[in-house]
Amino acid sequence: MKFKTRMLLIISSLIILGFLVSAISSFTISQQRALKSLTEQELPLVLNNVYSDIQRDLLKPQLVSSMMANDTFVHEWAENGELDIQSMSRYLQKIKQEYDLFSAFFVSENSQRYFYSEGVLKVISANTEADSWYYRFKDKQASSEINIDPDMGNQNQLAIFINVKVLDQAQQLMGITGVALNINNVTAKLQEYYFKYGKQVYFLDNNGEVILSSYHRNDAHKKLTKNALKAFITEMRQEKEGQFSYQLDDDHYLLQTRYIEELDLILCVEVQLDEINTPLIRELVIKLFVSFLLLSLILWLILKTINRYQEKLESIAWKDALTGLLNRHSFVDSYQIEHNRHQRNNHEMAILMIDIDLFKEINDKFGHLIGDQVLKYSAMSLKKVLRPSDVIARWGGEEFIVLLPDTALDQALLSAERMRKLIEAHQDLKGITISIGISMFCATQNMDGNIGIADRHLYRAKKQGRNCIVH
Ligand code: GH3
Ligand code: MG
Ligand code: MG
Repeated sequence: MKFKTRMLLIISSLIILGFLVSAISSFTISQQRALKSLTEQELPLVLNNVYSDIQRDLLKPQLVSSMMANDTFVHEWAENGELDIQSMSRYLQKIKQEYDLFSAFFVSENSQRYFYSEGVLKVISANTEADSWYYRFKDKQASSEINIDPDMGNQNQLAIFINVKVLDQAQQLMGITGVALNINNVTAKLQEYYFKYGKQVYFLDNNGEVILSSYHRNDAHKKLTKNALKAFITEMRQEKEGQFSYQLDDDHYLLQTRYIEELDLILCVEVQLDEINTPLIRELVIKLFVSFLLLSLILWLILKTINRYQEKLESIAWKDALTGLLNRHSFVDSYQIEHNRHQRNNHEMAILMIDIDLFKEINDKFGHLIGDQVLKYSAMSLKKVLRPSDVIARWGGEEFIVLLPDTALDQALLSAERMRKLIEAHQDLKGITISIGISMFCATQNMDGNIGIADRHLYRAKKQGRNCIVH
C-alpha cells in the first residue's frame, strides 16, 4: 500500500474513531439522562396527574351515592313497604339524568329487589354469581365501595359502581344504593392521557388482569402482561406507589404504579423503553451521517491538496524548469528503459549530442534573459523534429541529448540535419546555430561509453567550424 493511502487511512480511521466515540458517549449520556428524568420525574408526575383526575372524576358520583343513601325519600319509601315502584324509578331516573350517569340503583335488603330507572330489574339471589357483590359488600365493614362489574341494567356492559349502604336509625341495613359510570368514558379518558402524556395508562386487578386500558389489548396480550406482572402484584398492592420493569417478547417496559384502595385496583402508567431510544437513535444516525459527509469532504480536500503538491513536486523532480524538457536525471531513467527495450528487440538506436554554437556571445550581447528565451525556443524547435517515442533532455547549460530508438544511422543523420536547418533558419533565435555529434547505440558499452562517443563527435564538429554534424 502506498504511503499516502496508508496515511489517509490512518487519518480517516482516527477521525472516524473520534466521531464514533463522541457520538456514542453523547448517546449514552443522553440515554441515561432521559431514563433518569423518566423514572424520577415524568412517570411519577404523570401518575399523580392521572390519579388526581381519577379521584376527581370519582368524587362527584361518590357524593351522589352518599346523598342517595341518606335521602329521606329512600328511607321512607323503603320503610313504608316499597309500595310505589314508579316513584322509586322516577327518583333513580332523575338522579341518572341530573348527574349524567350510566345508571342509578337501589337494592332492598328487605325484598331483595333490584330497582333501577326502568323499574324492578330483578330479585337478587345469594346463589347467583352476578349478585355476589351485594352479599360480599353487605358483610364488609366499609359503608361504601367502588367496583368494576358488568351493569345488568345496561346490557351487562362493564361499569364502575359506587355502592353505599343505606342504614336506618338503628344502623340496620335497609339496602344498598349507588350509581354506575360508563366504563367507555373512563377508557376514553385513559386514551386522552395517552395522547397528552405519551404514556400508556391502565388498571390491574388483584390477579394482574388488565381491567381498563388506554389501548386495546387482545386476550393473548392481556395474558402475557398478566404473566409478566403476576410476580409484582403483591408488592404493587402493599406499597402505595412503586416502579417496576418487565419484559414482553423483546420489548422492555417501565411501569409506575399506585394502588387505589377505593377501587381495589392498581393504576399503572407505562412506557416502552425503546420509545426513549427511538429519537436518540435517530439523532445518532443523523449525527453520524453528517459527520461522515463532513469527513468525506475533508478527506477529498486533503487528497486533492496532496495530489496537487505531489504532481508539482514530481514535475519539479523530472522536468527542466526552463525548457520543460526532461532533466539529466530523468534522462538516465529513460536511457535505461530504451536500453532494456533494445536488449529485447535488438533494433538500432541513435544518440545525438547537441550544443548551441557560441552561446556565450548571445548572453554577452543580449543578456541572460534573452539567452534563456533562446534556449527555451531552441528546445521547442528541436522537439518538433522528433517522434513521440523519441527522448530529448537538457543535458546541461546549452547542451541537449536525444535518443532515437528504432533508428538507423542514415535516418538519424536526416533528423539531425533537419534540426540543424530548423535552428539555423529560425527567426527568433538571434541567428544561432547548433553542432551535433551522433553515436549509434552499442550494447556492449555502458551509458557513459555510448554518450562519450557522441560527445567526442560533437567536439569534432566544433573543431570543424560548428553548425555541422559529425558521426
Ligand atoms: P561553443 O560553440 O564552443 O559551445 O561556445 P559556447 O559559447 O556556446 O560555449 P561555452 O561552453 O564557452 O559557453 C556556454 C555558455 O552558455 C556559458 C553560459 O553562460 C551559457 N549558459 C549556460 N546555461 C545557461 C542558461 O541556462 N541560460 C543562459 N542565458 N545562459 C547559459
Ligand atoms: Mg556551446
Ligand atoms: Mg556547451
